[in-house]
Amino acid sequence: MNKPANPNWAARAQQLNIQGKSFINGQYVSAASEKTFDCISPIDGRHLTQVAACDQMDVDRAAAAARAAFNDGRWSRVHPSKRKAVLLHLADLIEKNADELALLETLDMGKPIRDSLSIDIPATARCFRWYAEAVDKLYDEVAPTAHNVLATITREPLGVCGVIVPWNFPLIMAAWKLAPALAAGNSIVLKPAEQSSLTAIRLAALAAEAGLPDGVLNVVTGLGHEAGQAIGLHRDIDGVFFTGSTAVGKYILQYAAQSNMKKVGLECGGKSAHIILDDCGDLDAAAEAAAFGIFFNQGEMCSAGSRLILDAPIRDAVMEKILHFAKGMQPGDPLDPTTRLGAMVDKTHTERVMDYIANGKQEAELLIGGRQARLETGGCYIEPTVFDKVSNKARIAQEEIFGPVLAVITVNGVDEAIQIANESIYGLAAGVWSDNVNTLYKATRALKAGVVYANCYDADDITTPFGGYKQSGIGRDKSLHAFDKYTELKTTWLKLR
Ligand code: NAD
Repeated sequence: MNKPANPNWAARAQQLNIQGKSFINGQYVSAASEKTFDCISPIDGRHLTQVAACDQMDVDRAAAAARAAFNDGRWSRVHPSKRKAVLLHLADLIEKNADELALLETLDMGKPIRDSLSIDIPATARCFRWYAEAVDKLYDEVAPTAHNVLATITREPLGVCGVIVPWNFPLIMAAWKLAPALAAGNSIVLKPAEQSSLTAIRLAALAAEAGLPDGVLNVVTGLGHEAGQAIGLHRDIDGVFFTGSTAVGKYILQYAAQSNMKKVGLECGGKSAHIILDDCGDLDAAAEAAAFGIFFNQGEMCSAGSRLILDAPIRDAVMEKILHFAKGMQPGDPLDPTTRLGAMVDKTHTERVMDYIANGKQEAELLIGGRQARLETGGCYIEPTVFDKVSNKARIAQEEIFGPVLAVITVNGVDEAIQIANESIYGLAAGVWSDNVNTLYKATRALKAGVVYANCYDADDITTPFGGYKQSGIGRDKSLHAFDKYTELKTTWLKLR
């Protein structure tokens, strides 16, 4: 029997006043076409609201508002300490409204309320606070030149930034781009994913309350091939910064080429390898990290360790522990604070993951899971699923499933492990466990991934860059390196008389 929902969160959900309009030039507005789409909760299929289905007309309005705000300097030219104050205020407001934001996130995309509350909302506030604190401490450069000339290298805001984000961490993914872009003085046109628009819509009002001037942050809701494409093709948007699938990332590159050669930043998919070698001294910790690395956030995680590469001598011991974790992580009601595995984002994605599972049954051995769960709720749930005896050439080893589905590959030794780990079109994250520092160092240097975890997995902090090698993306979010995306470097030569 499923446990009943926590009455507190369920009752609060009933009382929420959910906004579904877009936010352009400081106001909530309907799409110019008046079109909307249904916002359905994957928890139980309940209808949450109608969301504005914006298209090119709305993107034009938002880009014009953003351009006007950028050009008159109401944000782009104010003192960095003023921008800092507003963004710090926004971080405070995010924390003050944490319960509401967490509930919206959970209702909208199905993640457990305990994760929304303990991870998504605090990380979002910390991100805004961190970039706010950074922006009045960044200095520009003076080049070493001959004594009668001065050459300065200054960073200037890019201008109008299009930001397109996915649904797996709706607020955090937006914050990773908005915080550095706003701190640097840009104006924004943000498009949240159609599956998870609600917190971005709410964030716009909080930003206005914090003192962000009208037109600086515009949130345009809508479908990818309508509002998203219009941002990508817009001739008066200076850069488009995207997180999402590799397939759509390639469209973004094409849009930039077809329009104004806008700057492009891409954070795309992954099929990350998580290696446990036979000289790993803490198999309990490694197995727990491996299970958490694929089942956390329902496996809807770009950096999920979805390929577990086990050294033959420790294979059986690790598998036993992983299956134990999988059994203990059955899907539950996301509004129940004890639930660790929530709902998949929607029916379409659930079907996609189930197709991969059906395919996996032809290619490998299903050890546990593989079925939908909690069907009586009307929601979208999938059991933690583990496939063994997977070939690295199999579809479930090469394609991103984005669900709680683990593919286990057995190898002999570190060299084979590294070779298989790198045989992928992706290069977002990788993990390796060993107690031999030489082996560990060799592996971390050889793994082709933007983030490598040694004797841990999914370690995270805003202070470190995040992004991918190969088809996992172009550029990096987080850390001071993120400013590279949202600024232009200007060299100025001053000849002295
Ligand atoms: P998606 O590519 O389908 O959609 C992402 C965003 O792009 C959404 O806002 C969507 O509306 C928009 N979009 C869709 N089609 C478009 C088009 N033709 N033109 C312009 N915009 C379009 O991805 P998703 O299903 O929302 O998210 C899952 C993907 O995101 C996974 O591949 C995951 O690995 C990736 N992801 C990557 C990172 C990272 O940091 N590298 C982080 C989170 C998620």
